[in-house]
Amino acid sequence: MNCRHCNHVLWNLPAPASGAARVCPECGTGYTVASYEFVPGQVEFHCPQCDQAYYGTSAQGHLEPPEFQCSRCGTDVTMERCALRPVGGVGATGAMLQLPLPWTEPGSLPARWWNTVVAGVKFPSRIPAMIGDRDLFGSAVAFLALHVVVSSVVTIATGLAMVLFSALMVGAAGGGGPFALPAFPGPSIAVQVGLQLAQVAIAPISMICVACAGAGMTSLIGNSFGLTFRRAFSIVAFSSGGFAFSLIPFCGALVGLVVWAVGSSIAIGAACPRGKAAGPIILGLVGTLLAYGVFSVVGIVLSALLAL
Ligand SMILES: [Zn+2]
Ligand SMILES: [Zn+2]
Repeated sequence: MNCRHCNHVLWNLPAPASGAARVCPECGTGYTVASYEFVPGQVEFHCPQCDQAYYGTSAQGHLEPPEFQCSRCGTDVTMERCALRPVGGVGATGAMLQLPLPWTEPGSLPARWWNTVVAGVKFPSRIPAMIGDRDLFGSAVAFLALHVVVSSVVTIATGLAMVLFSALMVGAAGGGGPFALPAFPGPSIAVQVGLQLAQVAIAPISMICVACAGAGMTSLIGNSFGLTFRRAFSIVAFSSGGFAFSLIPFCGALVGLVVWAVGSSIAIGAACPRGKAAGPIILGLVGTLLAYGVFSVVGIVLSALLAL
């Protein structure tokens, strides 16, 4: 259990005063016990008054119930007020619940992609714990790039089919053969096909920029409790599984964006201390929407210019 900002060891710290937030003694970054996950039964939670030990028995190794009266001294015990120690002999690392993030596990590329997508859709709140204390910014960029390309395949294929179909129609009407240039002024078929194919590169670049904008806005508030830009981006990228809904023809692109936004909001919320999630989530959504709007306008303007 280490500080997510400076890696300082957070075991064995004395209980904070009632109502006070827990902060890293080294760098002052706030944190919550709830944002860490432990192997069930391997962490002792000590009563702040009498040091009586209790064991975290929930699936995340947390106290069940989260609040109760100490059986020895009657003090109100909550997880956030306890001093935490790994059970003797387990070791500090062995007590941490290692949730595998499929993308960084061994396996074939399609399996790692698909399992990360499923994790992002089914358990977005566990993505921060899966990232743990690692800086996975580079892997997150790689995953998001591949994910956007795969998820955009149907959209790009639909666009290509429509370009070719309308070319066929124009060709049939003009009698100039199936691949004749359209009679009206406009981009040639080659340009239109090229624009569709260019989406394979444009889509991932623009979505990475959109995710960067959201993560940047989130970190404006999140920085104070360890949710840096790089960490926020990794969380947003690895919880983007819902974007795979873009594979539904025609209406999918919008559905994919909405499910991605919901998943990432849940994941960002899980990375914030209790009661402090609203600000980072709202700022992140605003940043995402603004960036997405800018890219949409630029796209529309560019295609209008090409059509002149
Ligand atoms: Zn620290
Ligand atoms: Zn007690």
